[in-house]
Amino acid sequence: MAIGAFKLSPIDSMLCEVHYLPLNIRQKYLITKFAAKKMSTPQTGLIRTISEPYHKHLLKPLYIKLHDILEEISFNISNIKQKEMFPTIPPWNTNHIEANTELTKFNKNNTPHSLIINTFYEIINTKFKNYYHFYTDASKTTNETGFAINHRDEYSLHKLDPLSSIYLAETFAILEATLTALSSNHVKVLILSDSMSAVTSIANVHTKCNLAQSIQNIILLTDKSIKLMWVPSHIGIPGNELADELAMKAASSPDTKIYPHVTYDDVIRALKTKLYTLWQNQWEKQSNQNNKLRQIKPLTKKWPDPPVKLTRHEETMIARVRIGHTRITHSYLMRRELKPRCKTCNCELTVNHIFLECPTYHNARSKANINTSSLKDALGPGQEKNISIAKSKSLVGAFAIKHEKASLTKFLGKKPRAKKHFNQKPTSDFELYSFNKLLLL
Ligand SMILES: [Zn+2]
Repeated sequence: MAIGAFKLSPIDSMLCEVHYLPLNIRQKYLITKFAAKKMSTPQTGLIRTISEPYHKHLLKPLYIKLHDILEEISFNISNIKQKEMFPTIPPWNTNHIEANTELTKFNKNNTPHSLIINTFYEIINTKFKNYYHFYTDASKTTNETGFAINHRDEYSLHKLDPLSSIYLAETFAILEATLTALSSNHVKVLILSDSMSAVTSIANVHTKCNLAQSIQNIILLTDKSIKLMWVPSHIGIPGNELADELAMKAASSPDTKIYPHVTYDDVIRALKTKLYTLWQNQWEKQSNQNNKLRQIKPLTKKWPDPPVKLTRHEETMIARVRIGHTRITHSYLMRRELKPRCKTCNCELTVNHIFLECPTYHNARSKANINTSSLKDALGPGQEKNISIAKSKSLVGAFAIKHEKASLTKFLGKKPRAKKHFNQKPTSDFELYSFNKLLLL
């Protein structure tokens, strides 16, 4: 009711109008989210409630519900990476991660690449002498996300969940490089990445990213010297160019092995996409006949913001005409009367008829600049002001002159007591009255 929809409006339309998940889907979202949260923080005892079928009979329903949901939406939450519950290294510890970002002083668009490359070699030869280099890079196409690590003649390719963000792919690449460095014989390791956000997040002791915290813990707890460096991409640093090429291959090749971990955030993002698709399918199954909003809003996506700020009254009015349930067309349900009919055309009185078809309102429509080719054009996004103008004083004024009424606005503003008015007013007034009454709610 927050949108001011008319009583007895279909609940699906109201939820779609405000872009709020229907309750059955929201329940799926909340249960799966709860389970995913517990999976990512296994230290809490509650994990048993979702992993053991007969833990306690009181908690059994959650387990059963969760597994039914996961099966229904074919979703998997078993490979969520466990979060670091508490930082192993306290933030006041002076041992910080060393991340070199010196090359940021160059703008690669207006600096000769050779100068940047020379500075790069200068840095690694002076500050990182005898360091073994790992280059990492990630790539994201519309459908695939992958990352690659290369060092000397070796490389490894990994594919992530397609919904993983590029930031997480870059961070996973650094994690994988760190783990490879740990298991290698090299004592001094430099990881070179072209992702500024990943490098700075790992170097920041107060980072909120759990994956970055995992990398910090590995680097700070090992005896080896593992350092990070940011390098600009596509300027011709050979290791980075190769990593870039390999990452693209990792994302596009169907043979790349799937990386076994996903983060909680990735799972939630994937879950949302899945459930919003489910909602869209559910929305499409509704018939246009019963659901008037579907003709105007075929997608469940959020309406774009209106180009102008609307008043509460206008918002309510627009929500009602879009949902198709307004006082003029549907108040008969509450008065237990017959469906109202258009006096001119003798057909059913609907929003569609008034906004697109009825000749009585032809002038009113053209004055308000209402596009009458379809209901979607008339009431869709961007039309808010026109709908509002349709009710504006000037329009009402124009009518008023025609009908020789000095203050029709006042009359229309009165709380409609439909039955009485209908009986008292002549036909022409009734038509005018009905158009404005529709817009006046
Ligand atoms: Zn008509």
